[in-house]
Amino acid sequence: MTHERFPLAQAVHGEAIEQETVIGIKREHQNVWFQLNIYPLPSPQENAPKKLFLSLAHEVSEAVERGRDLSQTAHYDALTGLPNRALLNDRMKTALAHCTRTGQILAICLLDLDGFKPINDTLGHEAGDEVLKITANRLLENMRGNDTALRLGGDEFVLLINDLKSEDECVLVLNRILASIAKSITIGESVCTVTGSLGVTLFPNDPSDPGILLRHADQAMYKAKEHGKNDFEMFDPTLASRHRANRSTLARIAKAMQKKQFELHYQPQINCATGRMVGVEALIRWNHPVLGIRSPGEFLPLLEKDDMIIEVGNWVIQEALAQWRLWKAEGIDLTIGINIAARQLLHSGFGEMLKTVHASLPEGEANPLELEILETAALEDMNSVARLINDSRRLGYTYSLDDFGTGYSSLAHLKHLSVDALKIDQSYVRDMLDDPGDLAIVQGIIGIAEAFDAKIIAEGVENIDQIMMLIGMGCEIVQGFAIAKPMPGDKISAWLTNYNSNPIWQTARDSYPSRGQFEMLVIEVAHRHWFEQIERAYRDGAIEKGRMPTLESYDQCKLTSWYLGEGAAQHGHHSLLHAMDVNHRKTHEKYQQLCDQVARHDGISASLTLKELNELNNTLIMAIHQLRFKESR
Ligand code: C2E
Ligand code: MG
Ligand code: MG
Repeated sequence: MTHERFPLAQAVHGEAIEQETVIGIKREHQNVWFQLNIYPLPSPQENAPKKLFLSLAHEVSEAVERGRDLSQTAHYDALTGLPNRALLNDRMKTALAHCTRTGQILAICLLDLDGFKPINDTLGHEAGDEVLKITANRLLENMRGNDTALRLGGDEFVLLINDLKSEDECVLVLNRILASIAKSITIGESVCTVTGSLGVTLFPNDPSDPGILLRHADQAMYKAKEHGKNDFEMFDPTLASRHRANRSTLARIAKAMQKKQFELHYQPQINCATGRMVGVEALIRWNHPVLGIRSPGEFLPLLEKDDMIIEVGNWVIQEALAQWRLWKAEGIDLTIGINIAARQLLHSGFGEMLKTVHASLPEGEANPLELEILETAALEDMNSVARLINDSRRLGYTYSLDDFGTGYSSLAHLKHLSVDALKIDQSYVRDMLDDPGDLAIVQGIIGIAEAFDAKIIAEGVENIDQIMMLIGMGCEIVQGFAIAKPMPGDKISAWLTNYNSNPIWQTARDSYPSRGQFEMLVIEVAHRHWFEQIERAYRDGAIEKGRMPTLESYDQCKLTSWYLGEGAAQHGHHSLLHAMDVNHRKTHEKYQQLCDQVARHDGISASLTLKELNELNNTLIMAIHQLRFKESR
């Protein structure tokens, strides 16, 4: 009998134990007999409480020895001598219990060898076996006694690394293991190498059950393979919990679909040249029974990562067509812009679905659907998308590139895709009156559309100045809150009636800027931007820093070159032009004065000068306005 002793808490209650007492019945576990004893140790002082010890006695009988051989075959891998899959559960449980007790980290790792199959195929199975044996030894050499290396089968291993104090320590061990696996192996005349892809999850940071921990390690291992092998990848439990949350949101979206809680709103698109409504864009809304109308930003990004977007996208098309039929019955004929998600566009059934939809249209009717695709989606698989566009164009579908300017399409891509329209992204439209860079982009996009003979639509138009500017640049179709917010389909007809008598849009239409006026608008934007930079620098602590940004001087200013060139040619010696120039010079001089005060850290004078500069700049902009309108008369 072999005895192993474990200290117990002091005996406080019950009878004093004076001699060894058997407290456990002899039991057999995995072919070994166990007996649990409890006994006191002699105490140095007479009345001191006795320390108690548990002893575990085990006996290996002859029969047991025989059993042990059988057990070895059942639980250990014959090739490498490592525990096999049969011991996985046991080892996991023991390691988890150990970690929970010690409060340290357990790394659960799944290792898959890279490049093992070619060795088997080219050098034969014996060589493959040798590689596995050597790898198993290398694993053991780099792990501690109470860690586990287990062969799952083939070239897959599970590693349980105990007692880690930090993630950094774990990284060190993993790198050591990977480096050791990757060392070359000599088999007979041949030298070969394998590497390892390791997927790792750390308990208790990932507090899952054993089976799930292994699944997480497995997922991470696939990532390690994807990312180029011979490396490890850590499973991220925060990502996993986000994933769970996402799944439950997706389930709620699926329910919302069943309960018909989705609806479409429609936003008018106006041609400013004719004053007519030329189309609408269909925009999805979730009419939530408790939260009310939810906009797509709240649910689409998630939906777009799931195949459910295809079902939702098909519903959008059916719903829009149903609305189109209702409008037709009222005598309203409109093109409907439909947003197509990347996943839906690239799905193999998309072309067929378009054919089915086309077949359902009344005979002889023009196809009313304009499919809005994102530049980024189109570029993902440009050849297929180009083919799809060409094929479905025969069925009357038209295409626009949505949010144009935010992707990376080149002119060659545009030529290849041959879309019917470009929609200028609303971020450029929103800022173009304040930021000359955005204005230049809008102008560039309009030029590109003209070059490719594509329709151009500006979205996110919020005020009349933007409309004026767009018309000046040659973009006549606009969509945005300045015209109308998206609305339910049954409101469009009433809106159209009111729209005809809306005086603001009449003004916008009637006061088309000429090219000359447009140029002045650009200059006006540039000067407003010039002043904003000064204001921002002042707010951001120019006084403390003792310096202002270096901005255009009077001589470098666009307005000066216009004044000397186009301005002089158009307005000659007109007093308005002269007054504007005097004001312009003063504005730049004021800025110089401000720079000097800032350099002296004279905050009081500088803030007065900034105010005066603001007034001068406003007067200047008014003067440019006056000249602009004088020109239009
Ligand atoms: P988008 O296709 O670029 O649609 C224009 C977005 O700008 C809409 O937002 C619209 O309400 C908003 N908008 C229009 N005019 C203005 C304006 O003057 N100012 C401002 N600030 N915003 C304006 P919404 O409806 O929230 O849609 C956001 C995006 O969701 C859409 O951008 C589109 O990419 C996507 N989306 C909407 N409906 C669908 C759909 O049925 N299917 C798919 N796949 N995507 C959709
Ligand atoms: Mg759109
Ligand atoms: Mg857009």
